[in-house]
Amino acid sequence: MSFRLVLLVAALAALFSAGRGAPAGNAGWQAGLATADITPQAAQWMSGYGGRNRPAEGTLHPLFAKVLALEDAAGHRAVVVTTDLLGIPQTIYDRVCAELKQRHGLGRDQIMLHASHSHCTPVLRGALYDAYPLPEAQKPVIEAYSLELEKTLVDTVGRAFAALAPAQLAAGQGTTGFAVNRRNNPEAQVPELRRKLELKGPVDHSVPVLAVSAPDGTLKAVVFGYACHNTTLNFYQWAGDYAGFAQIALQRSHPGATAMFFSGCGADQNPLPRREVHQAERYGNLLAAAVEEVLLQAPAPIPPRLRTAHAFAPLNLGPTPTKEELARLAQGTPTTLTRWAGRLLAELEAGKTLPRSYPYPVQVWRLGADRLWIALGGEVVVDYALRFKREFGPSTWVAGYANDVMAYIPSARVLAEDRPPRTNGRPGYEGNTSMYVYGQPAHTWADDIEETIATHVHRLVGEVRAP
Ligand SMILES: [Zn+2]
Repeated sequence: MSFRLVLLVAALAALFSAGRGAPAGNAGWQAGLATADITPQAAQWMSGYGGRNRPAEGTLHPLFAKVLALEDAAGHRAVVVTTDLLGIPQTIYDRVCAELKQRHGLGRDQIMLHASHSHCTPVLRGALYDAYPLPEAQKPVIEAYSLELEKTLVDTVGRAFAALAPAQLAAGQGTTGFAVNRRNNPEAQVPELRRKLELKGPVDHSVPVLAVSAPDGTLKAVVFGYACHNTTLNFYQWAGDYAGFAQIALQRSHPGATAMFFSGCGADQNPLPRREVHQAERYGNLLAAAVEEVLLQAPAPIPPRLRTAHAFAPLNLGPTPTKEELARLAQGTPTTLTRWAGRLLAELEAGKTLPRSYPYPVQVWRLGADRLWIALGGEVVVDYALRFKREFGPSTWVAGYANDVMAYIPSARVLAEDRPPRTNGRPGYEGNTSMYVYGQPAHTWADDIEETIATHVHRLVGEVRAP
């Protein structure tokens, strides 16, 4: 046999073996799924609203963590983790990533952790403590739950990897219109404004859909998003809110499939009107129907290529409050503001230096030829999604509430509107006073927040698009 012929035979053999699906470097996608019930067992404080005055009293429907493990044709792995939680705080994000590095060799670029931002979910370690009148006895309960949650997330990822099997991925985008820009439309007037087609302000009504099927076409999972606060409900029952109802509806109509929700950039969007269980169910059904519509129209197949990138953007904080200012703000009947000011004052008096910036997680995935999935930390306002869709194309997916939720993330516009004297009718929450709720050591972010985030997103998009 000539040398050339040997090479040809070897090349054909390699092609043939790739076609049969070797464990790494197989011809198509591999996908694995796992689900865990994360409903708290103890009477535990509920998250999101500072006005809560007692622990949860029951369960409307269970809370879940769900994992989609992926491996592309070249053997590159990643996990999408969705949770019925308010937001993953930094300590849990760090500890879960460290454990997944140890057990599965995953870098942060390969781990995408989502929170649905339901406010009928438990308070997590260190998250928004200034916002709640939290009894000291709750802190060990929260710590025990947080430790258990970390272990569950890591174990569920392990089970999803163990379930990897050949799969097909496809993508599409639907729409539904229940999210309302809450900065521009007074809540009580929304039904009337809606009737008159006079709702104002930027919105992102798109519903991104990622469908995962078995080789025979059976739906294994559907991952979908929406840019709207998951805050229909404020009662004392554990619940996934509209996103929980949407997942239940999809799993009911696709028996055996896992439905997974991720939040878009809905920090300034509310589901309105709200507060009734039937409304949460109605919004969930609207969202599920938008997903069904995409599945019905046969979403576009995604070639088995995955690129992943991640960076921490150092987000600058605005001016540090002075001791005199904090002493003044710490006075009076206990509120979020007095707790925030009192805690920071104690830290300054103990000789601590307050941080001047925050390591903000930015992540970009490229699925197939050129579908971008941008995942941003914090409560991100809708301007970011609209900007990145303008810059990278309308099929770009932009998630907020991803990885670490440390504060609201205003755009340059929202930050400017919320600076006193305010040019917006709303009390300036997203760009200003929400920093107290999250305990950040400044009244606002610095003016360069949007450009710092955009610069990092552009750099990571360049990385995943590089040949
Ligand atoms: Zn929120």
